[in-house]
Amino acid sequence: MKLLFPKFDPTSLKVRLTFGIAAVSAIGLGGLATWTSIRMQQILVSTHKENIVYIAERFPHDVEIYSDMVSLEMGAQKAIDNLSDENKILWVKNNNIVTALSAKLEDEAIAKNLLSLKNVPPIPQVQDLKGSYWLLCASPLKVKGVDLGQFYIAQDITSDQIMFLNLIRSLSIATLIAIAAMTITIAFYINRSMKPLKRISQITSNISADKLNEAQIHLDKAPSEVRELADTFEQMLERLGQSWEHQRQLLSNVSHELRTPLTIISGYLQSTLRRGQNLTDIQREALTTASSEADRTVQLLRDLLDLARADSGAIHFQNEKIILNDLIVDVAEMAQQYCDRHIKIESPNQLIAIEADLNRLKQVLLNLIDNAVKYSEPDTKITVSLKLCSKSEDAVMAVCDRGVGIPLQQQPRIFERFYRIDEARNRAGGTGLGLSIVKTLVEGMGGKIAVRSQLGEGSTFTVCFPAV
Ligand code: ADP
Repeated sequence: MKLLFPKFDPTSLKVRLTFGIAAVSAIGLGGLATWTSIRMQQILVSTHKENIVYIAERFPHDVEIYSDMVSLEMGAQKAIDNLSDENKILWVKNNNIVTALSAKLEDEAIAKNLLSLKNVPPIPQVQDLKGSYWLLCASPLKVKGVDLGQFYIAQDITSDQIMFLNLIRSLSIATLIAIAAMTITIAFYINRSMKPLKRISQITSNISADKLNEAQIHLDKAPSEVRELADTFEQMLERLGQSWEHQRQLLSNVSHELRTPLTIISGYLQSTLRRGQNLTDIQREALTTASSEADRTVQLLRDLLDLARADSGAIHFQNEKIILNDLIVDVAEMAQQYCDRHIKIESPNQLIAIEADLNRLKQVLLNLIDNAVKYSEPDTKITVSLKLCSKSEDAVMAVCDRGVGIPLQQQPRIFERFYRIDEARNRAGGTGLGLSIVKTLVEGMGGKIAVRSQLGEGSTFTVCFPAV
């Protein structure tokens, strides 16, 4: 449904262009149609007008000729009889009394409409008289110096006018259809022209940081401007890729170079602490702090090195068959030694095995247990469980605590590098790298990691691998 009716965005270039061009073409076509109608009306009326003006000029002269034989009023009647026809009606009015008229005015309906007209203009004009259209004009009639009142000429143009109105209606409908067809065609064409731009944004949004160098935006049938844009993007991505690579290299080198001297410093500090019998309390405290900070920094450098290796694809996993039931017992025992917390193990009787790198998998589980210890109170329970998912046949290991929990909106972000929720809860120490390494390792070995957590209730981290 969403594909058939894509979201309407009034600020998009597509919508703006379509509406802009449609409005301009509507104004253009509408204007042309209006101008054509006005011109047609003028042409239609002008022929009749010329005829009426001719009769208006000639009428007094005709009356004069006839009045040589009969009275002036009779002369006017004769002239009217002579000039009247099916569509042309004449009459003379003197002091509101009709003194001569066309035979057609004996029809009551026509007489009612025409004879009562007042303020008829001297120049012929079209008037709509209850559905019939007339071209009307009136002029004073003076023959042989005698004022005979006003004479009126009316030309029935109803059939012409109706034909003209029908023509205008057809023209309007044709114009509307043309505008609609043009708008649809323009919208379709613009949509097609915009597709390469959409493609660029799709391709670029799918490029991950470590694939910047390999990114290729191929647009064969795109307009040259868009192809140029794609080329510029490609070049920019290449430059970004190179600088990303330099940074990665630098990070890896710095971590490597710093790790060795710091490990030595930490070793010396620990041996001084162990052997220094006559150290004062202040000296002992200072050395303890220095030693633990050195350890923390060595751990940070180790993590950074791991990530740098994973990014450059230099991390190699020695996968082997691992019986998870044994592994989780070993890992829980190891963790208990340094954290002084009881870790409950839930493991089925059935043996569950996977293919993975033993040391890396231990590192993953120890990291998760370390977090469970850090982010829960000492008297709360930590459980490491193992089961076989009946649906997917996956081996599922879970580390569950009853600690502070993780807010829902932060859950997808905790696997990002250096992401830490807030300083208050992180007084336990840490660098924000642990979970990103865990995720990198798990995914590197072909597994999946997920978190389920509720604030104040605790968290469960699950690691799944296909069972073998
Ligand atoms: P850190 O070194 O800070 O522990 P991690 O990458 O291991 O870094 O974890 C990222 C953040 O996720 C931590 O700062 C912490 O706030 C949160 N977090 C991780 N594990 C848990 C947990 N079991 N319970 C609550 N919060 C956790």
